[in-house]
Amino acid sequence: MPTHIPHWIEGARREGASGRTGEVTDSATGEVTGAVALASVEEVDAAVAAASAAFPGWRDTSLAKRTAVLFRFRELLNARKPELAAIITAEHGKVLDDALGEVSRGQEVVEYACGVPSLVRGGFTENASTNVDVHSVRQPLGPVAIISPFNFPAMVPMWFFPIAIATGNTVVLKPSEQDPSASLWMAELWKEAGLPDGVFNVVQGDKVAVDRLLEHPDIQSVSFVGSTAIAQYVYETGTRHGKRVQALGGAKNHMVVLPDADLDLAADAAVNSGFGSAGERCMAISAVVAVGGVGDDLVARIAERTHTLRTGDGRKGCDMGPLISKRHRDRVESYVEAGEKEGAKLVVDGREVTPDGAEDGFWLGPTLVDHVEPGMSVYTDEIFGPVLSVLRVDTYEHAVELINRNEYGNGTAIFTNDGGAARRFQHEVQVGMIGINVPIPVPMAYYSFGGWKNSLFGDTHAHGAEGVHFFTRGKVITSRWLDPSHGGLNLGFPQNA
Ligand code: NAD
Repeated sequence: MPTHIPHWIEGARREGASGRTGEVTDSATGEVTGAVALASVEEVDAAVAAASAAFPGWRDTSLAKRTAVLFRFRELLNARKPELAAIITAEHGKVLDDALGEVSRGQEVVEYACGVPSLVRGGFTENASTNVDVHSVRQPLGPVAIISPFNFPAMVPMWFFPIAIATGNTVVLKPSEQDPSASLWMAELWKEAGLPDGVFNVVQGDKVAVDRLLEHPDIQSVSFVGSTAIAQYVYETGTRHGKRVQALGGAKNHMVVLPDADLDLAADAAVNSGFGSAGERCMAISAVVAVGGVGDDLVARIAERTHTLRTGDGRKGCDMGPLISKRHRDRVESYVEAGEKEGAKLVVDGREVTPDGAEDGFWLGPTLVDHVEPGMSVYTDEIFGPVLSVLRVDTYEHAVELINRNEYGNGTAIFTNDGGAARRFQHEVQVGMIGINVPIPVPMAYYSFGGWKNSLFGDTHAHGAEGVHFFTRGKVITSRWLDPSHGGLNLGFPQNA
């Protein structure tokens, strides 16, 4: 019997009442393991009402007390992260080690948020005008919404909620309906850490829930991560309803390999970043750009390594797990077929892999496609699967031109031993996150995560200083304490004196 996966409202599980549910599967077996509630408008309203009711109390809770809850959450998460990793693997399919890595990267944001007292510290200017002082503060927004994708069911929500909560906001999280259980585990952990009921709520759901959050008058901001078309829709709809929105979209990340690069290092990096988490990472490398004749050698080294990977059930110590759903698996496969038809050369065919897992798992092995041209769909579209394309260009300039012409600008990497070339690359390339001999340059929590172009709508990246800025608004207070020499009536615009 599939488990019921409910909402979390006002500090307790709340069974779905809409009569609609979605199927949750174990990607490695194909089995339906859960029935997730899909919220109605009324259920979303109940979660927002809980967040609104909890807001005044949480906003007025001292920084010392808020921080104490965050430290407890951090300790509990750190001690029990294998439990969360197991939940992620059971629904998403990524291998256990990778799921643990996801939780650890989310935990870094919790740790950053533990420093909230210094992050929200304002400024003070004494005697800006005679006997006049000016100071600034940053205050929370109110109830905020977080809408997350399937590929990082723990880390992506954690990009946002630790900072939102630390800065005094209350949260309604709408996780992906494909792997919703991690959100409930995190909600229970918050309760155990002592977070007051209503500060963190989860509504399970689909478009109905998202649309209600986007238009609900009490929701002050929306942090979204998902595919580009939906990110753009969320940005446009949310801002039209007067909300602050950060909407992170899809990606097509290039890895440039210059002729002077260490090709073994580059080949390792291409395999790790192309096939880790079955390519279902927004920072995965999906296009390797071989510059100036290194193509054959590089492809041979990548192929050799790819053949050693073991695809199978993430609980069995394999290197790569299944894809999230049968539908997604078939879509990814269709790009491999299209690439072949369009004239690319299939060097490693993931369709031939025998997985170490159940027959009905959503399997597709690591696939390497060479001689890909910019017009082919295997290059133009975000595939979000274990398909690594290799393009060949003559010069460094052509490589940069290719990247800058691409509609996405999430991450990119260059492999070279030439410091001058690397420096020029970081300056010229139109991408938000850049790696130099680092294939997945995900910024640390105290920097901000976000892409350019169609990889981000809005201008605020996630976590770091930009995250704190996003979840707070500024106030500037100008004050003068009465002095017997006050100036009397003056209708002119205030000027310094
Ligand atoms: P998705 O866009 O299908 O779903 C994301 C969220 O939007 C989910 O919560 C989903 O329920 C909701 N949603 C889906 N369709 C909707 C609709 N029509 N109207 C309103 N809401 C809708 O994305 P996904 O398949 O879950 O995740 C994969 C995508 O996320 C990839 O494109 C990947 O690149 C992207 N992603 C980007 C980043 C980043 O930092 N830029 C990080 C992770 C994932």
